[in-house]
Amino acid sequence: MYTSLLTEKDANGYRTTLCQRQLQDLPQGDVTVAIDYSSLNYKDALAITGKGPIVRSFPMVPGIDFSGTVTESTHPVWKAGDRVILTGWGVGEKHPGGLAQMARVNGNWLVALPENATTWQAMAIGTAGLTAMLCVAALERNGITPQAGTVLVTGASGGVGSFAVALLSRLGYNVTASTGRTTESEWLTTLGASAVISRDELSNPGKPLQKERWAAVIDTVGSHTLANACASVQYGGVVAACGMAQGMDFPATVAPFILRGVTLAGVDSVMIPLAQRQDAWQRLTRLLDNALLESLATTYPLAETISLADKLFAGEIRGRAVISCR
Ligand code: NDP
Repeated sequence: MYTSLLTEKDANGYRTTLCQRQLQDLPQGDVTVAIDYSSLNYKDALAITGKGPIVRSFPMVPGIDFSGTVTESTHPVWKAGDRVILTGWGVGEKHPGGLAQMARVNGNWLVALPENATTWQAMAIGTAGLTAMLCVAALERNGITPQAGTVLVTGASGGVGSFAVALLSRLGYNVTASTGRTTESEWLTTLGASAVISRDELSNPGKPLQKERWAAVIDTVGSHTLANACASVQYGGVVAACGMAQGMDFPATVAPFILRGVTLAGVDSVMIPLAQRQDAWQRLTRLLDNALLESLATTYPLAETISLADKLFAGEIRGRAVISCR
């Protein structure tokens, strides 16, 4: 028997409960993992509450990421005892996920835990840290160096945003953090932001071209914020777009792209090829020390996850919520 969250949708409605399951309830897959930690991402909160159409088949174990130890494997790369990380690939959406004590997955989806890292650190970083690293890589790939100027991070107090601030600052970039939680200014400064602005400056409809303020932007918010980010990035600048916390829409014009040569770089962490994941995880565990991760992440028991989902929507969770599944 193992403990698991389970999301169901039937004649009795949409609900997520904590329940006991049998090992034979695990899905098909060539690697079985005893999960140490999972985490609560925005997508997980949507899946748990039913506030967004994340879950594609029911019943579903939510949880888009986890870290743990292989207990059984018929996959050529993995053997019992290997420590692994999983993020994305539709796990927690269409394949049972990480908010449980056990998981069974396709071995091709797994990344080896980098040497010297712990399974706690892996989930303190989690999908949010991986996505932030991929956003930074998108800026680098498009020629943005620390000398280019200030980089704006939107949704900076959230999971992806706070990692983006910390990673950019450790790589020598000058960072401005945009947040709706100005009470978190001091914390964002500790993470590495040299300035903090109110998200109200960006979240309303704005002009198609605005003052050139940023060399680049990492945007976790979408909607008017993304449109304003594109309109205020300098000539030849780059906007890495990965999120939609304000909205799915993109109410913008082509002006920044055709008049300032701005690049809009989309970032996806779910289906990104393995080689880029491995590279990102190596860099993440090198750049982020334990003291920083402890300041960014809070650990909660699996049984608390359902109530945490509402707190995430209410903006009451700072940084990352790591879920202990042991
Ligand atoms: P969080 O909820 O932790 O952070 C989102 C942040 O966005 C909040 O903390 C808040 O920051 C800001 N925000 C929330 N609502 C609004 C609003 N109405 N207007 C403006 N800003 C708002 O989520 P995550 O960091 O986990 O994810 C951020 C986004 O990135 C989500 O949309 C998520 O779906 C997406 N994502 C995409 C991935 C990909 O592969 N492309 C992977 C992971 C996440 P503050 O309080 O500082 O203003």
